[in-house]
Amino acid sequence: MKLSRDIKSLSLEELEQFLENNGEKKFRAKQIFNWLWKNNVSSFETMNNIPLPTRNLLEKTFTFYPVKINTQQTSEDGTIKLAFSLADGNFAEGVLIPSEDRTTACISSQVGCNLGCKFCATARLGFTRNLTAGEIVDQVIEINKLSLQNYQRPLSNIVFMGMGEPLLNYAHVLFAIKCITAEYGLGMSPRRITVSTAGVAKMIKKLADDEVKFNLAISLHSANEEKRDDFMPINKGINLSELSEAIVYFWKKTNTRVTLEYLLLKDYNDSIKAAQELALFCKAFPCKINVIEFNPVEGLEFERSTNERTQKFVEILESKNMIVNIRRSRGKDIDAACGQLANKIAKNT
Ligand code: SF4
Repeated sequence: MKLSRDIKSLSLEELEQFLENNGEKKFRAKQIFNWLWKNNVSSFETMNNIPLPTRNLLEKTFTFYPVKINTQQTSEDGTIKLAFSLADGNFAEGVLIPSEDRTTACISSQVGCNLGCKFCATARLGFTRNLTAGEIVDQVIEINKLSLQNYQRPLSNIVFMGMGEPLLNYAHVLFAIKCITAEYGLGMSPRRITVSTAGVAKMIKKLADDEVKFNLAISLHSANEEKRDDFMPINKGINLSELSEAIVYFWKKTNTRVTLEYLLLKDYNDSIKAAQELALFCKAFPCKINVIEFNPVEGLEFERSTNERTQKFVEILESKNMIVNIRRSRGKDIDAACGQLANKIAKNT
């Protein structure tokens, strides 16, 4: 069976073109976009300022592929982990992370991932497909609803740190961010959005060329070539000096400081030498470092670093004038690490 095209996969220009080609008024495209991206409707019938013949034309040509919450787990710290079911039977994960001053949605960009990072539960799922822009934005809309219901405030931040490598789904991710930030969409500031990459250097440069306004985070986790080769196989194709060069390019073109994510693992990447290597790597560009507590994943060999080693690691970086934040693990009791919930669903279906 051939599926009709997802209405949410069209850009504004494509929809305008489609309407014009079919003898319809171009300005209707903005009205339709308002329904799609601001009001989040999932039927053409609801679009009551669009003439009936136009709605019928849309109905005949396009369809909706809504994203629905399949499973929801709430942690004792308030973190809510979600498995979303997609129209084709696949799953994607999202997390709502409330804190004192913000509510953050962590969303997915792909179903699974093929980058094979050793510490990651998603890597074990393999790669199935890219998410569409509509599926990405729908996760935000659903998590925003939950935030309003549970914490009486809308989302303040969005991070692309769920399943998948966002820069390997570049077009859909950028289109989704356009819709999240547009006045016809959610109207959110791009400064409140962070895209996290394992280090796809070519696409980091493309982000710079495209003059994006959102934040960029790099999942670094080791500044040692050999260790990173072992830990994050992407490093075998794009090594640390290539990554550094791309980060410098991004910083110079956008004037934006990147964030480096560093998951601290006991006796693996938490030594004094590892901290010194990280400080050396950071010399080439301004950055902020997030040292992240590891959320243990069933079946993975790694353990969380101790408080003493974490403290020492941070002290070394701070002694070299680096900006460091320690990110405590959230949702420890609910499979909140990326890919854990989807792994469980995959095992049980
Ligand atoms: S950490 Fe991110 S890039 Fe690495 S395998 Fe997991 S989802 Fe993919």
